[in-house]
Amino acid sequence: MQQENEFTKWYLKTIQDAELMDYTPVRGCITFRPDGYEIWEHIQAEMDRRFKETGHRNAYFPMLIPESFFQKEKDHIEGFSPELPWVTEAAGEPLEERLALRPTSETMIGHLYAKWVKSYRDLPLLLNQWANVFRWEKKTLPFIRTSEFLWQEGHTAHENEEEARHETMQMLAIYKEVVENILAIPVYDGTKTISERFAGAVDTFSIEAMMKDGKAVQAGTSHYLGTKFAEAFDIKYLNKNNEHQYVHTTSWGTSTRLIGSVIMVHGDDKGLVLPPKIAPTQVVLMPVGPFKKHPEILEKLEEIQQDLKAKGIRVKLDDTDQTAGFKFNKWEQKGAALRVELGPRDYQNGQAIVKARDEEEKKTVNLTELFTIIEEELEVMQGRLLTKARQFRDANSHTTIDSLAQLQQHIEASDIPGWVLAGWCGSADCEQKVKEQTKFTTRNIPFHPPVQKETCICCEQQAQHTVWFARAY
Ligand code: AMP
Repeated sequence: MQQENEFTKWYLKTIQDAELMDYTPVRGCITFRPDGYEIWEHIQAEMDRRFKETGHRNAYFPMLIPESFFQKEKDHIEGFSPELPWVTEAAGEPLEERLALRPTSETMIGHLYAKWVKSYRDLPLLLNQWANVFRWEKKTLPFIRTSEFLWQEGHTAHENEEEARHETMQMLAIYKEVVENILAIPVYDGTKTISERFAGAVDTFSIEAMMKDGKAVQAGTSHYLGTKFAEAFDIKYLNKNNEHQYVHTTSWGTSTRLIGSVIMVHGDDKGLVLPPKIAPTQVVLMPVGPFKKHPEILEKLEEIQQDLKAKGIRVKLDDTDQTAGFKFNKWEQKGAALRVELGPRDYQNGQAIVKARDEEEKKTVNLTELFTIIEEELEVMQGRLLTKARQFRDANSHTTIDSLAQLQQHIEASDIPGWVLAGWCGSADCEQKVKEQTKFTTRNIPFHPPVQKETCICCEQQAQHTVWFARAY
């Protein structure tokens, strides 16, 4: 299937052909098949290690949240109420109070932090939860926007604003580092505008990634919540001067949306292209030619498989009786990072063929050097994917569009309108007008914009901010 014409169709077919997911009868709720789940496990492991290195611990909180908890923070309930599924009866009896399936856990955690935090000695409190959450989304797309999704949500409490803001930025920086170095997706970090802020946050910061159709994905968010949840749930501590103070809290989350983003950034017409660091199959070994008549071929491949496994490389040996063409196709669809072919003639010459998933060219390699080359190739491919993604993003980022008319012309004239860096006066009206007329929304106000813009793209008055505008998933 060709990406160019119908990107969404390509995406849906690619994730199904690769056996990452399947649909279920429950709207917007997908099943993660083993390869899809394994990609998540690798992302999880990378994130989790960094969370722990920065002093966080994992905990688990209940999935059902009493309705009264939501009523305590006005902005939070306003933002989330349209998306909440409710449990209203159990064991055949109506419940006294309805229970929401959590869309996020600030409220339940706020309730508990109020019990756990007594003095400055209890701070900072740095917890993370790996869980499923529910948001009954109107429009869904597997991994990218689902009604149930898997994620991590960090929740921390601090003595003061400075420490809480430092935490908010630290976690955003960890997200950026993982998404760029592990998922090979370049991102812009920045501040969300008020209209795009998390319900109940003082400030929301995000990392934003460009997909191969030029649309944006919000790949992770980190929120400074001020004392809003502390006031709502009465989370107070006694400071060193024996005064009661509200804590300052943060929350931050990334989800299985990252799986969808990896596919939309790196995939091609043949299927998945996965960065080696998260690929369920880093190396696939394949006997080729009349290998059945040469038992030494399979023996050699089994030996290579054992050696690679011992080195911690995720390797599969495909010795099924399908044709080589069929197998090539299958492992390309599944995004195996490297393919190693061994046929009778190669074997006689003490050689094998190595091919990286994202490159056309094949390399002939001496069997004695195979391990070194595999390790090198995996490393090089990881970096190459980030470079290719960055080149694509830069080529589709536009910094010289300064009016709504220009933006409309640009959209009409482009197959991939991409992102537009433009000035914004800061008014919600201008933001809304751009959205209504072009479907371009504010992604974030980047911390490090490639250039600074002087005038608002909508009203053409003095700009207060330089903002990324794009169509978004
Ligand atoms: P939030 O708590 O709204 O800041 O969400 C945290 C992160 O979860 C977002 O930055 C998204 O990457 C991701 N996310 C939000 N909604 C969904 C959804 N419906 N499906 C998958 N991921 C989501």
